[in-house]
Amino acid sequence: MDPNCIFCKIVAGQIPCHKLYEDERVLAFLDVGPLSVGHALVIPKHHAVRLDELPEEDAAAVGAVLPRLGRAVSQATGINDYNVLQNNGEPAGQVVMHVHFHLIPKPDDAPRTGGPPGSPGSGLGIGWPAGKLEQDEAKALVEKITTAMG
Ligand code: AMP
Ligand code: ZN
Repeated sequence: MDPNCIFCKIVAGQIPCHKLYEDERVLAFLDVGPLSVGHALVIPKHHAVRLDELPEEDAAAVGAVLPRLGRAVSQATGINDYNVLQNNGEPAGQVVMHVHFHLIPKPDDAPRTGGPPGSPGSGLGIGWPAGKLEQDEAKALVEKITTAMG
């Protein structure tokens, strides 16, 4: 527990939340700043800032909850589609420095540009300026990343 961390305070019951699910390692609750109706957060109870700092047992526990919560949010909101988003580091959009997965419902036929909760365009707005993976670059990256994986 980090006493200065807002999500640790939620885990400890020092700050209220709209709880959706809890087990020994995981807590899920509604996001107070929703991008769409049903926007939920799934967090490990263990304090880690980034996903790459999270013990595997906690990562596995969070991963096990996501499909179930996805089904429940879809059923409850009537919105079948959703994005899962997990930001690591300020440049990547991380504001709360405790690992969390966003589960963000995406209404049918919605444009990708976003809009307020309840509107057809609500949910995550995604910019996806895709490049092209070149063969040489791919080979070099595979070599480096598989080596780093150990
Ligand atoms: P991120 O930008 O990935 O760090 O997202 C942090 C998220 O936490 C934002 O969507 C906030 O709306 C949400 N948030 C911050 N404080 C609380 C809180 N006390 N209860 C629920 N959600 C929160
Ligand atoms: Zn924390």
